[in-house]
Amino acid sequence: MLTLSLTTVLYIAASALFILSLSGLGRQETARSGNLYGIIGMALAIIAAAFGVTEIQRDLTVANVHGSGFGMLAAAIVPGAVIGAILAARVAMTAMPELVAMLHSFVGLAAVLVGLASHITPLKELTGADHTIHAVEIFVGVFVGALTFTGSIIAFLKLRGSIGGKPLLLPGRHLLNLAMVLGSVALGYLFLGDPAQSLTWLLVMTGVACLLGVHMVMAIGGADMPVVVSMLNSYSGWAASAAGFMLENDLLIITGALVGSSGAILSYIMCQAMNRSFISVIAGGFGSDGGAPAAGGAQAITGDQTEISPDDTVELLREAKSIVVVPGYGMAVAQAQHTVSEIAKLLRKRGAEFRFAIHPVAGRLPGHMNVLLAEANVPYDIVLEMDEINDDLPDTDVVLVIGANDIVNPSAQDDPSSPIAGMPVLEVWKSKTVIIMKRGRGTGYAGVENPLFFKENSRMLFGDAKKTVDGLLTKLRE
Ligand code: NDP
Repeated sequence: MLTLSLTTVLYIAASALFILSLSGLGRQETARSGNLYGIIGMALAIIAAAFGVTEIQRDLTVANVHGSGFGMLAAAIVPGAVIGAILAARVAMTAMPELVAMLHSFVGLAAVLVGLASHITPLKELTGADHTIHAVEIFVGVFVGALTFTGSIIAFLKLRGSIGGKPLLLPGRHLLNLAMVLGSVALGYLFLGDPAQSLTWLLVMTGVACLLGVHMVMAIGGADMPVVVSMLNSYSGWAASAAGFMLENDLLIITGALVGSSGAILSYIMCQAMNRSFISVIAGGFGSDGGAPAAGGAQAITGDQTEISPDDTVELLREAKSIVVVPGYGMAVAQAQHTVSEIAKLLRKRGAEFRFAIHPVAGRLPGHMNVLLAEANVPYDIVLEMDEINDDLPDTDVVLVIGANDIVNPSAQDDPSSPIAGMPVLEVWKSKTVIIMKRGRGTGYAGVENPLFFKENSRMLFGDAKKTVDGLLTKLRE
């Protein structure tokens, strides 16, 4: 059993490791060590939580705070750890956002359960201002937790494709959201002022917050899902922080605040990348105002698609002095990154300038393409962000678009009625030749047609991305 001071030391060490972890995860070169710091920090946190004593436990002077709890703790942790490890080992990289959304929902649910438990069986009797503050902590924690719980479940179902990507735009939906928030505030007033019925008011508010979570995420349109995932990440952090206040656990407060604020910063960065307003994301249903009908009303596209053979593609690549690869979700599905990396190595050796262009929302989770390219040992210095490479595209001989669609769609710039109008895109059509690899005529995540495929300098190379790039590599080596 650890003493209070040793427990505090472990909590401080874990907090410092979490901060180091976040700063490490900020850059590809240090991401591995960042991950390691996080793992060590979490191990220390679990040890301190299981074997340590918090102030509240010391004050309780319950003879055997731990003695009775170890069995239950093991019964929860062991199966949870086994299930988590199996799921994480099995999950395909493309399904990672679904797993993340599911995990966020667990954090939300945990905050709700902790809040209800703290209300039904308080750890210690509080009076006066202390009681009011604790009651507010419970109320806010349960509100954020319930919102995160149902919002994350809807995000999970949307990412999985079980619910269509089209936004649900109920009439007066902003008013509805406002009514639910104000209703929750009113319920909070009743909760504080009516101790006899307080559990009822708490449960009613939980129901309202659950509905609010569903409604807010249902109103988000297809291409805007990345922002929702990072926003729910932030909410789950605040929910954990609220649980920390309820349990008087400093580490949980700090960790929750770190997740909450880093998620909020990520949401802000993603909003800027998608050219969306941060406030409208928080209010829900963004990307569907301002004359851009996200429900889909894009201009019709006319013209034909021109195909290219693998032989002609190889010829173009051999002659090209500058080549840019735009990877997208299809490259991740096909697992073509290793062959693409080999092609890059070969053509760079032959003197071509070969670079990768990364759109901030390419794939299905922030940084998805960076992870894949790092896994395939592509040097970091030839992997450029959208803002860094867009100006170079007009001077590029060949752009290879591998399984990407929405992120290279010119209608984001040209067609104000497009559901993705206003989203910054990689301007690949400005290069001399664009070769687009995809299996057929499928649309991207946002479900909109792409005029890029019909442009004069565009060539379609149909087939599974992995098979296609394998074929190109073999021919290039001949
Ligand atoms: P898209 O989803 O727009 O397009 C992927 C394309 O890949 C499809 O058109 C598909 O066409 C093709 N494809 C699928 N499988 C294969 C395969 N095996 N071989 C070759 N091609 C294949 O992907 P992008 O990366 O361009 O854009 C990402 C989209 O996902 C954006 O709309 C973004 O908002 C959204 N999103 C992003 C998240 C993030 O955090 N990054 C999270 C959630 C959503 P075909 O079927 O014809 O082969």
